[in-house]
Amino acid sequence: MKKITRILGLGLALLGVVSLSSCGEKNAIIEKEDITVNPTSNSIYVKKVENMPDDFILGMDASSVISLEEGGVKYYNFDGEEQDVFKTLAENGVNYIRVRIWNDPYDSLGHGYGGGNNDINKAIEIGKRATKYGMKLLVNFHYSDFWADPAKQMVPKAWANFESMNSYDITSKDSSPKSVALYEYTKDSLNKLKKEGIEIGMVQIGNETNAKMCGETNWINIQSLFRMGAKAVREVCPDALVALHFANPEKTSNYEDYAKKLKYYDVDYDVFASSYYPYWHGTLDNLANILSTIATKYNKKTMVMETSYAYTTEDTDFFGNTIGTSGYDNKDYPFTIQGQINNFRNIVDTIVNKTTNGIGVCYWEGTWISSGGATYEDNKELWEKYGSGWATSYAKEYDPNDAGLWYGGCAVDNQAFFDQTGHPLESLKMFGLLKKGNVIDLFADGVEDANVIHYTDEDFTLPETVNVIFCDNSKSPVQVTWEDFDIEAAKKAGNSKYKIKGLASGKEVYCNLTIMEYNYLQNYSFEDNNKSWEVNTYDGALDANSYKVQVTSENPQTGNNAFHFWASTADTVKFSIEQEITNLKTGTYKLQFSLLGGVASGTADASQQNIYCYVKINDNIVYKIDAKFTSYSDGYKDFLLRNIEYTQGDKIVIGVYVEANEVGSWGDIDDILFNYQNE
Ligand code: CA
Repeated sequence: MKKITRILGLGLALLGVVSLSSCGEKNAIIEKEDITVNPTSNSIYVKKVENMPDDFILGMDASSVISLEEGGVKYYNFDGEEQDVFKTLAENGVNYIRVRIWNDPYDSLGHGYGGGNNDINKAIEIGKRATKYGMKLLVNFHYSDFWADPAKQMVPKAWANFESMNSYDITSKDSSPKSVALYEYTKDSLNKLKKEGIEIGMVQIGNETNAKMCGETNWINIQSLFRMGAKAVREVCPDALVALHFANPEKTSNYEDYAKKLKYYDVDYDVFASSYYPYWHGTLDNLANILSTIATKYNKKTMVMETSYAYTTEDTDFFGNTIGTSGYDNKDYPFTIQGQINNFRNIVDTIVNKTTNGIGVCYWEGTWISSGGATYEDNKELWEKYGSGWATSYAKEYDPNDAGLWYGGCAVDNQAFFDQTGHPLESLKMFGLLKKGNVIDLFADGVEDANVIHYTDEDFTLPETVNVIFCDNSKSPVQVTWEDFDIEAAKKAGNSKYKIKGLASGKEVYCNLTIMEYNYLQNYSFEDNNKSWEVNTYDGALDANSYKVQVTSENPQTGNNAFHFWASTADTVKFSIEQEITNLKTGTYKLQFSLLGGVASGTADASQQNIYCYVKINDNIVYKIDAKFTSYSDGYKDFLLRNIEYTQGDKIVIGVYVEANEVGSWGDIDDILFNYQNE
């Protein structure tokens, strides 16, 4: 191997294809292949994005490709021929390749942690292939040995025993051992990439660094890491953009806070980048507003660094997917290749036309498909050997609470732009069609589920029509036939929920029916934000960096919203919400509420929780029902309190009190029901 490398190097030198880097070392030059970008399609609709600049970044994170290929996965072009997947991406309009880099994703015996085993060597191979086909590289340093995201920012093993950054005073922060190591590591890694002739367009310092990074949880330390990373980029790649990357744009006050702190600490960066997963991250208008606010106020470029959308609910690698058949009934688009197109296209349109200084959108892991085994066992062997699943069992030593428990395959294979056999989906052509658009006849792409709520004492029937969703995301009602369902029996059962299957336009559709007894509480399901509920937070339990308790669309049980609490992974949470009921008649009542929750990783310790729903009569808690949560995977649990006696004229207040003393506790409250008790 060594000999071949040397001869190749000599050959390149003889051909004269070398250049000088700023530090005088010879950089290789990668011979580029001519790429024609001109996809056409007669089966997908791509609405033209007006005003899209020629240099708008249409990125693809393709970090897992090498480990998949090592395990035997092959990729094909639209003619069915095996072809370098990077060439196929380029031919269809992708112009940036994003790659994550982990410092040392291996255990002491050299076993990879998985998730592509993305070290610098993988980045070099991916970068060379990207450059060969004319795409720039977006280097994504996690500054961790494995996944970094809002919940996890673990320090690399090699940096774990440095003297704490807290023991350095603010003025010399940049010389703390961790800051210096990060600077040297960034410089060294970028030099390695440059030396291979790789064209680096952008470098991000950290991944989804929501007030946490590289094991640090306070801003004084984090800003030092940001600044030292940026300094390295400026020195090695003066033409590259420096990006900082955050998640959860729906929490707008957090974004404002990050941007303000970056300014306060004078952190040098060009791009304020955000993840945007439509399932969790609020509306596109909200995204455009918060990014524009920051762009204008601080004179920064903005972009969407990650997004994805399911083209199917099917799993192809025997490892369950994040987005599947359960939940997410209120999705923005059908889970089809047209839905996948419309999600990305509308984000691009938002960033181009509604967002100040928007420069690009990058899709996350659109090449991460099944490892190709015929059974779970076959795939497991491949995941363990090549790291092509999200985590291997070897990741246990580094990440015992998450990877150590749940290691396995790919959870996003149904969001890729290639099918399980490596053939491109028609939706991949979208990248190349965005600028000019693709005109075809409207076709029905899916049918929208019906969500209805009725009271037990009202007469009702199931909806006669549901909406067909067309390829341009317009909607039109059509007749629906539901499976047999006994409405009277359901009404007798009292408060309850049903999922009824139906057929419309030849497609399967569901009616999500909620049956309720008359509820004396207003805004019981938080559909109207906090309205009608008084929120009390208690001193000391939520510091300035913590998430607030607030209504969000993250995990609704019914409707689109729930009352969410998350104290970040470094804090606890303590609050109550209350509502007074007026003009209630004397009688016997019952109270119910639903709770979902967990901790940032693993299972919550129920003994650390004091949670209850209560009835205050004349300002004293007279009735209460205790509740606990353990883990997100348990779903919502209902808690019911009966035989509440009330006398007309007394003051009555219904509330929920939450005290979760384990750091990283989070959860949702939904559907607080106060009904007359008939029986
Ligand atoms: Ca899967």
